Amino acid sequence: MLRVYYLEGKRYKSCEPNIKNMTDFKGMDILNTKPLSKSEIERIMEVADGVLAVARKEEESDLLKGKILASLFYEPSTRTRLSFETAMHRLGGDVITVVGTESSSLAKGETLSDTAKVVEKFADAIVVRHGKPGAVDEMARAADVPVINAGDGDHEHPTQALLDLFTMIKERGIVDGLKIGVVGDLKYGRTVHSLVQLLAHYDVELILVSPDQLKMPGEVVSELSEKGVKYTETEDLEDAVKVADVVYMTRIQQERFNDQNEFEKFKNVYVLTREMIEKHNAKMTIMHPLPRVGEISLNVDELEGAAYFRQVENGVAVRMAILALLLGKV
Ligand code: ASP
Repeated sequence: MLRVYYLEGKRYKSCEPNIKNMTDFKGMDILNTKPLSKSEIERIMEVADGVLAVARKEEESDLLKGKILASLFYEPSTRTRLSFETAMHRLGGDVITVVGTESSSLAKGETLSDTAKVVEKFADAIVVRHGKPGAVDEMARAADVPVINAGDGDHEHPTQALLDLFTMIKERGIVDGLKIGVVGDLKYGRTVHSLVQLLAHYDVELILVSPDQLKMPGEVVSELSEKGVKYTETEDLEDAVKVADVVYMTRIQQERFNDQNEFEKFKNVYVLTREMIEKHNAKMTIMHPLPRVGEISLNVDELEGAAYFRQVENGVAVRMAILALLLGKV
């Protein structure tokens, strides 16, 4: 019988809590980034680096042979779902999947916790995307197998943030000392909520760029202050482009606006152009969790610093690492 243990605020599901080795991930849920320690983050980065050749299709592996991942995506997704499923397949594991609520028992009124208790009987781990903040936590509380949050409403997207961090390491060599511009919809963008919590472990300077109405939520900003992270807030994209080593663009989250007229006001507010980059800072790294809907001009793609498609490949490696760690295979 698996039990749930709480250690330093993290949930573990295993026969024994491993108190000595906090980087033992077996049976852990990944629901948000705040509870991850620096050594845990670095362990994920190290394992991801080790499987990068598999993600790049240069090597093969059957590390997760015999394991099944249930992928439950109740909100639209292309990259994240395919990325998790690719990660599982390339490590020799299998995937069962549900896409959208119409085809699932949720449409019949089943509770999230009942769904979790059913799915854990089929699978060794569950990855969930859901429109409601906290919905994935609810499933994790009910399930005995590891549960991974693949995005819950406007709240968090921890695996995206981990792959973003991994990409910064790959592109820049070291995170300490970086000036990072985080641009766009910082209110509703879940990837940035998760990312800044990870960056808070490093000696970075953040330039938070958003319209005043779409600023980073107060509780996240207070968290940064408490941790002594250097940050500035501005509405001007050029403030970041002039000084940043990395600019992380995001889209305005249309689906989170109740009033579409409000969304229209903001939809094209930031467009990173090639001219802007070449004028101010030709060496900077440009990132985006994708999909982009106009925030980065297409001719930026040819620049060496355009890292957003490499980010996608890195994502497979990071998700492989997370699956292997939670399933106790590394
Ligand atoms: N793909 C990311 C997410 O699911 C970013 C976005 O949709 O803007 O949050």
